[in-house]
Amino acid sequence: MLNKRLSRRDMLKFLTLCGLSMVPLDISASSKTSMKKARIVIVGGGIAGASAAKYLRLLNPFVHITLIEPKEQYIFCPGSNEIFPGWKSVKDLTVSYSSLKNRYQIKIIKDIALKIDYKNKQVSLARGNSLSYDKLIVSPGATLDYERVEGYNLKLAQSRFPAAWHVSPQTLLLKKQILSMRKGGTMIVSIPKPPYRCPPAPYERATFIAHMFKKHNPTAKVLILDSQDRFVFDNVYPYYWEKYFNFGRKDALIERIRPKDGGHITKLDAKTQTLIGQNGEKFKGDILNIIPPHKAGMFALNNALTKGDWASVEYQDYSSTKKRDIYILGDTIESAPMPKTGYIASNQARVAVQAINDELLNRPIGTPFIVNNCIAMVEKDFGMTLSEIFRYAGRGKQLKERSYIPGVDKNKLQQKMLGVLAEDWQENFRRSVFA
Ligand SMILES: Cc1cc2nc3c(=O)[nH]c(=O)nc-3n(C[C@H](O)[C@H](O)[C@H](O)COP(=O)(O)OP(=O)(O)OC[C@H]3O[C@@H](n4cnc5c(N)ncnc54)[C@H](O)[C@@H]3O)c2cc1C
Repeated sequence: MLNKRLSRRDMLKFLTLCGLSMVPLDISASSKTSMKKARIVIVGGGIAGASAAKYLRLLNPFVHITLIEPKEQYIFCPGSNEIFPGWKSVKDLTVSYSSLKNRYQIKIIKDIALKIDYKNKQVSLARGNSLSYDKLIVSPGATLDYERVEGYNLKLAQSRFPAAWHVSPQTLLLKKQILSMRKGGTMIVSIPKPPYRCPPAPYERATFIAHMFKKHNPTAKVLILDSQDRFVFDNVYPYYWEKYFNFGRKDALIERIRPKDGGHITKLDAKTQTLIGQNGEKFKGDILNIIPPHKAGMFALNNALTKGDWASVEYQDYSSTKKRDIYILGDTIESAPMPKTGYIASNQARVAVQAINDELLNRPIGTPFIVNNCIAMVEKDFGMTLSEIFRYAGRGKQLKERSYIPGVDKNKLQQKMLGVLAEDWQENFRRSVFA
């Protein structure tokens, strides 16, 4: 099977690099037989689902792994703000499922999963089939809840006020609007209350666009309407905004409105292109980039896996707190204090598949921790980074968090190195999930 494409030596080399052991090689004949029958079905082939498929296969050459994903190719969001200044294209961020299929022997079904029949352990698909599972991994990402901003909806996002919070035609529409905005116009970036995908990304986007305006439309303005007081890298971005864009002064190219001054947007008046804050404050823009509030993926919401807006899990193995033999990963889960990032989604997947494999081998599951390495940029040659660790602290308990967020680094070489690191990180991360 797998050994035809990925030799035992390759696998050993890889697992050693990852600090993992080649678990299935010393299993008993009876465990082998039961594992050969084990059917693992994964809903959603994004960062979490693809990581789960790949790393489960690396742990276990015997189980049947099926991945359900409607899209032919996956487009990474990490790096996608770079599409606006033209440092990256959509193609640069696009990967195929061919390695998962051919190298790791994952069965890929191009379809949408609909309903879970918990009693018979089956999941139904939009085209009419049903799949049986022993363990079901649910990783459908987050839903952008456009309508939670009164007056806003998907149709308006696709035609006039793009959110561009997944890479899609909305991203290219927003880019077109930025490049053709009238001289001296205002572009608004509206940021919802957390949790939303990738906490620093709206500030990074605003900064990249301010750089574009500085070159081609220097009397224009980027107005950030913010639903939160503090934000990640708020010890760094404002420093550069002051330095490059006169932040805090009358002629600033970038301005930020906090929630107390109306930054938390509740309503859109599409006719007048005006966003309305919670106390009736009005902000008119030439371009409205409205990032709507998020909630769990529809598959999780429609299958009774959520509490409130998010799916609820036990952080030791990412099993559902509501249903047996279901594991839920990535942006769709209640994850605080972990932010919703791809790096975290991928690491959650590795913890979950290790636990699933341990369970199949009748071994106790371990005490995991999750690492987040987050990289953001000010401009192409200018990066910054943070590291966080979230340690499992026991059933029902909040994860223990330790984080390191460096402040402003005035050393130009260091800034450049972090910019290069950011690019390398993206490339390596894409490979670590899909190659
Ligand atoms: C602008 C931006 C920049 C970002 N930058 C970074 C960064 O630098 N670093 C970082 O770590 N993270 C970053 N992120 C966050 C990162 O993209 C997400 O956290 C990550 O994609 C979450 O992975 P996921 O698998 O949970 O969801 P997704 O990647 O969204 O994947 C979900 C998949 O499930 C599929 N699906 C949904 N419903 C069904 C169904 N019913 N049946 C079958 N399939 C289904 C979808 O088609 C999709 O492919 C960024 C995000 C944005 C918006």
